[in-house]
Amino acid sequence: MKTIDKTTSALHAGHETNLTEGTRAVPIYQTTSYVFNDTDHAANLFGLKEFGYIYSRLNNPTNDILEKRLAAIEGGIGSVTFASGTAAISSTLLTLLKNGDHILASNSLYGGTFNLLNVTLPRYGIKSSFVNANQSEEIEKNINENTKVIFIESIGNPKLDIIDIEKVAKIAQKYKIPLIVDNTIATPYLIQPIDYGANLVIHSLTKYIGGQGNSLGGAVVDAGNFDWGNGNFPEITEPSKGYHGLKFFETFKAAAFLVKLRVEGLRDLGAAISPFNAFHIIQGLETLPIRIKKHSENALHIAKWLQNQEGVEWVNYPGLPSSNYHELSQKYLTNGQSGLVTFGLKGGFEAAKKFTDSTQLFSLLANIGDTKSLIIHPASTTHQQLSAEDQVQTGVFPDLIRLSIGLENVEDLKNDLKSALEQTNSKH
Ligand SMILES: *Cc1c(COP(=O)(O)O)cnc(C)c1O
Repeated sequence: MKTIDKTTSALHAGHETNLTEGTRAVPIYQTTSYVFNDTDHAANLFGLKEFGYIYSRLNNPTNDILEKRLAAIEGGIGSVTFASGTAAISSTLLTLLKNGDHILASNSLYGGTFNLLNVTLPRYGIKSSFVNANQSEEIEKNINENTKVIFIESIGNPKLDIIDIEKVAKIAQKYKIPLIVDNTIATPYLIQPIDYGANLVIHSLTKYIGGQGNSLGGAVVDAGNFDWGNGNFPEITEPSKGYHGLKFFETFKAAAFLVKLRVEGLRDLGAAISPFNAFHIIQGLETLPIRIKKHSENALHIAKWLQNQEGVEWVNYPGLPSSNYHELSQKYLTNGQSGLVTFGLKGGFEAAKKFTDSTQLFSLLANIGDTKSLIIHPASTTHQQLSAEDQVQTGVFPDLIRLSIGLENVEDLKNDLKSALEQTNSKH
């Protein structure tokens, strides 16, 4: 059979209609638990001797379809879904790492991930170093014998920097460390990190994949290309105390990490997605290819237009020739550069706040990737808890305004921004 295009996979992958009474839509299996045939069947399922449904914290047929679909689109061997993107990230790191381990991370991570790595994980003895991931020497200098993962975002939020994934992957391979890429902003329609050597791909499904601002979700896709038996992950190769001495790597080979993430990460940490949310996210995923294209077109249009408006000091969008990442965007983002645009006003911090308070169509809120256009002033909101130094490192300048460009008519969006600019300029 010919390879199926991602656009087709988004509509069909993982759903076998003969297993769902012929339903064309993916059904919502709103159940907590599943009837066992008998006690032997139950014992085999609990002992991982046989795969099947046990309890919806571990697996569920609706979630299962979403997992298979995401794996097909990203080009991985499988995936596990979670209650949120943050749950996917924390469960992954807590499944892989232990006291004394070290994470090497990009210095432009999403604020929530930065806090997890910088403040919360150190309480459990897991430390992180943050580096400019586009400087290979900096990465190599900060790798030590305890470094167990490298964590980057394909497009940083809100810095909108593009990481040269291929370069980072080469270093990760050299040191036999898995490379984790958060692909939330780009989505698999703009970049497939596995093609460039990523080992695990993480998504906040809450953003472009769900796409309509109604459901939280997260996922981890395993490329199946990392040797979990390389000696650096005894938790995966040695007998598991939680499973009567089961050796995950010996038993499940390439899928060892994914199985462990499910049967220990979900079993013990418990951040499972509800099947109702998985259903909503599947609806979003089906139209992702056309939505992300339109988000990208609208965003490029707005970015170009903003450059010529009075009172605007600077505009950052990876699709603009003036972006520091334009060259990398020509390599990695040839189908579009996603829907986020940032810009600053001549009036600085106060003008940015005034502008953010003055839009009508753009909603002031803490989300991205919605069909509706959104706006936020990170320095006074999402990144307020960061020190001034950390704000600059993560790319949050005091005057930065972040737009998440929706699917509205672009002329209406420009009119809204123009009116907000006029109101701001008249006050400064
Ligand atoms: C939003 C976001 C997350 C966190 O996802 P939630 O679903 O909000 O928990 C992680 N990474 C990036 C890049 C994000 O934008």
